[in-house]
Amino acid sequence: MTTFRAIRVDRVEGGTRAACVDFDEADLMDGDVTVRVTHSSLNYKDGLALTGKSPVVRRFPMIPGIDFAGIVESSSHPDFAPGDAVAATGGGLGETRLGGYAQRARAPAALLVKLPGGLTPAQAMAIGTAGFTAALCVMALERHGLKPADGPAIVTGAAGGVGSVAVALLAKAGWHVIASTGRPGEAGYLRDLGAAETIDRAELSSPGRPLGKERWAAGVDAVGSHTLANLLAQTKYSGAIAATGLAQGMDLPATVAPFILRGVALLGVDSVGCPRERRLEAWARLARDLDRGKLAEMTRTVQFDEVIGVAGEILAGRTRGRTVVEIPA
Ligand code: NDP
Repeated sequence: MTTFRAIRVDRVEGGTRAACVDFDEADLMDGDVTVRVTHSSLNYKDGLALTGKSPVVRRFPMIPGIDFAGIVESSSHPDFAPGDAVAATGGGLGETRLGGYAQRARAPAALLVKLPGGLTPAQAMAIGTAGFTAALCVMALERHGLKPADGPAIVTGAAGGVGSVAVALLAKAGWHVIASTGRPGEAGYLRDLGAAETIDRAELSSPGRPLGKERWAAGVDAVGSHTLANLLAQTKYSGAIAATGLAQGMDLPATVAPFILRGVALLGVDSVGCPRERRLEAWARLARDLDRGKLAEMTRTVQFDEVIGVAGEILAGRTRGRTVVEIPA
């Protein structure tokens, strides 16, 4: 029997439990490509899976970790060969398909990308699902036809993972970025990433009016609930908000006023089922436009055996930027 180290989530009386175990390679699921995982990352959803706070894991036992990067060990798919540096996000990893918190992972070729532009596996996971999703949000706003000359762009949950990468990408594209955060102490960090101004998220988090003063042309929202409703109510004529998260809540207590009176658009962004062409486009964009120094600035690294312990921090909104998980060889 060949085994590798993995974190495994099991169903137990009254909930779930995560622990570090030896996992039998024969129990990996089907897939075209087997990868020696060198890095994974901690996303909000991983926090939910590791703590069992929300039922994101839908198969037991599960190896959590909704993304991973590493080196191809074997492949039955013509697009990938042993030695290729690759990354994978979403597609059910860590939810319905064994995920990235392990020394080995097997995935369908459709989920994998060869790392573009000299990105290392560690940098790819500094980006991870959150950064990839931020790129999808920026691309959605651009597809809608929005550009920096239309007005400012707001980013909510700005000091978090999606938010930090969104701030950096929008600033790089020339936007005047307004970063909304609940952590005033992170204003300097956000300015270093490219934010032109920061606002207190409390301005946006309570019930507001159906329409307010027009403040921004575009937005990336990782928060949902009243925050998203207020974002829409304060979006300029013909502007758009890309909505991707629920850190404040899953609800959307809004009216149709911004849509029918100002032609505002709400653009939904999902990274899990993202089609392959768009995956490739987003990774190419990140490799080209995300400053590697800024990426390093927003990243901290934890060891494999620490990740269970830090899972609660991301749910409490205490992690800044991105958290890479180093997987031992
Ligand atoms: P993080 O925890 O890194 O970032 C979330 C940020 O939201 C926090 O840092 C905090 O930022 C802010 N926040 C936290 N709690 C609240 C609250 N109660 N009210 C208002 N703001 C709050 O998580 P990620 O960046 O990894 O993910 C962000 C969201 O996006 C999550 O809901 C996640 O599930 C979702 N997501 C969705 C994806 C998709 O495919 N649709 C993919 C990736 C993520 P600050 O301190 O600056 O205010």
